[in-house]
Amino acid sequence: MAPATVIVCVECGGRAQLATPLTPDDVIAVGDVLMYRCDECWGRFDVVVHEDDFDDPPGESPELA
Ligand SMILES: [Zn+2]
Repeated sequence: MAPATVIVCVECGGRAQLATPLTPDDVIAVGDVLMYRCDECWGRFDVVVHEDDFDDPPGESPELA
């Protein structure tokens, strides 16, 4: 499970990419803060990870397989 690496910039509607690349070893939890930077206006956004950011339904842990 992983949060989005690209979001829509709230300032200009451009692409804002995750500023701190995630590795498979990174553990992202709800409540963590991720920083995104916009390609268009170079705005920086701190986004708190929400449970909806994860693709997998809550309660499943595929990494345990
Ligand atoms: Zn922007």
